Amino acid sequence: MSNDLENGQKFYNDVMAYFDKAAALTDFEPGLLHQIKICNSIYKFSFPLEKDGKLEVVEGIRVQHSHHKTPTKGGIRYSEFVNEEEVKALATLMTFKCAVVDVPFGGAKGGIKVNPQNYTVKQLEKITRRYTTELIKKSMIGAGIDVPAPDYGSGPREMAWIADTYATFKYDDINALGCVTGKPLGQGGIQGRTEATGQGIFFGICEALSHAEDMKEIGLTTGISGKRVIVQGLGNVGYYSAKFCQEGGAFVTGIIEREGGVYNEKGLDIEALFNHRKSSGSILNFPGAKNITDAMSMLEMECDILIPAALENQITKENAPRIKAKIIAEGANGPVTKNAEVILNQKNVMIIPDLYLNAGGVTVSYFEWLKNLSHVRFGRMEKRFQETSTFEMIKAVEDMTGRSLDARQKKVITHGADEIDLVRSGLEETMISAFNEIREIKKSDKRIEDLRTAAFVSGIRKLGVSYQSLGIFP
Ligand code: NAD
Repeated sequence: MSNDLENGQKFYNDVMAYFDKAAALTDFEPGLLHQIKICNSIYKFSFPLEKDGKLEVVEGIRVQHSHHKTPTKGGIRYSEFVNEEEVKALATLMTFKCAVVDVPFGGAKGGIKVNPQNYTVKQLEKITRRYTTELIKKSMIGAGIDVPAPDYGSGPREMAWIADTYATFKYDDINALGCVTGKPLGQGGIQGRTEATGQGIFFGICEALSHAEDMKEIGLTTGISGKRVIVQGLGNVGYYSAKFCQEGGAFVTGIIEREGGVYNEKGLDIEALFNHRKSSGSILNFPGAKNITDAMSMLEMECDILIPAALENQITKENAPRIKAKIIAEGANGPVTKNAEVILNQKNVMIIPDLYLNAGGVTVSYFEWLKNLSHVRFGRMEKRFQETSTFEMIKAVEDMTGRSLDARQKKVITHGADEIDLVRSGLEETMISAFNEIREIKKSDKRIEDLRTAAFVSGIRKLGVSYQSLGIFP
């Protein structure tokens, strides 16, 4: 078996084991649990690409894990390591992720087995449009069917190509733009989607840090301010997680990338590091920071919060005993293996699980989809009305009391909500309430020893109730 497939298999087995552990703590009958567990549809396909005068075969896959709610939803991964088992694991996680944050979709995931760095923009466009066409041919994409989004190796540009291809074929579908999320603003995207996953991770970490009782158990004080954070991966998820943590008052002491890591105990300036990488092509040799050549060893450095935000299977039973972080905040999907988790639980490390913590992306994708279906920007109808009525209320109070607010106070109070205000507010509310729901589930049953099991229990219960309401399962 190839290394990639072995990794994918391990990842899928881990997800299945997490499911089984949580399922055993629910009261649903085995048939129903089996239906909740398995992947409903898997579509694998290949197509030719002309590259540098030669013909190459590109492999694509789309997995729809659960149709208990439609559309199904999940990103498309562009990576040379893509394999069926990995995509099945990611699609399964998407189902439970959506359920945990009350986003009314089933889970799905897609993959294209290419390393985007080896292709020109034109070739990537061709690949993306052909991938979309294959999904259209099988009715596996559409606002009411299955709605992809960005994942590892893809971003707004690829989503724009998908939307454009779909709209070309389905020119009479008034909801065509809702066939994919994570689009650029000019193509039906929504403000706040690009940073949503990282911002959601920040909100989730802050909520976990706000419970004094839990923090005491792991030897941390409350609040993000002053916490030392190490992040693996400076892509979409890693960059925004690091940036929001820094803006919140944490010291991001280390960033780990493929080529190595950089470290500064006083904290790195994330924006400057991001620009340094953009201009030099690497995070290494960043002024004021120490280069660390053995990138993986940085996962084991002293810190309060470790955010693995690159890929799965990064913290394993080999390095878990040496991990010093008090909190592991799973930005990536599946960065901690099942065997590693056993060790980390014994070490009293709090793991904030992927299926909750990185759900900010799908939450704001849901808002984008709603915006596409309603064909109106959030805030457009009510913003001015809110501003005028609040202004009139202040004026009335000022007239009654004879006292007046200064111009700054008035501006803050009368500000009507824009799209970005509503997206941030919806995202923060989602992350805070989902965390407390999971935390309550964990506290309510002594057999539930960690937040991951609690999150799976939460998801399984919601799916179970949904299937039971069909009347075919007891
Ligand atoms: P990305 O392609 O934007 O960034 C990934 C980064 O990780 C890149 O900078 C890459 O160089 C780096 N990287 C790759 N291998 C590495 C290694 N071995 N060590 C250190 N760095 C390495 O991808 P992304 O969208 O940020 O996704 C990262 C993870 O987050 C994936 O697991 C993905 O499934 C998950 N995720 C993404 C989103 C989203 O909205 N993009 C949402 C939820 C979960």
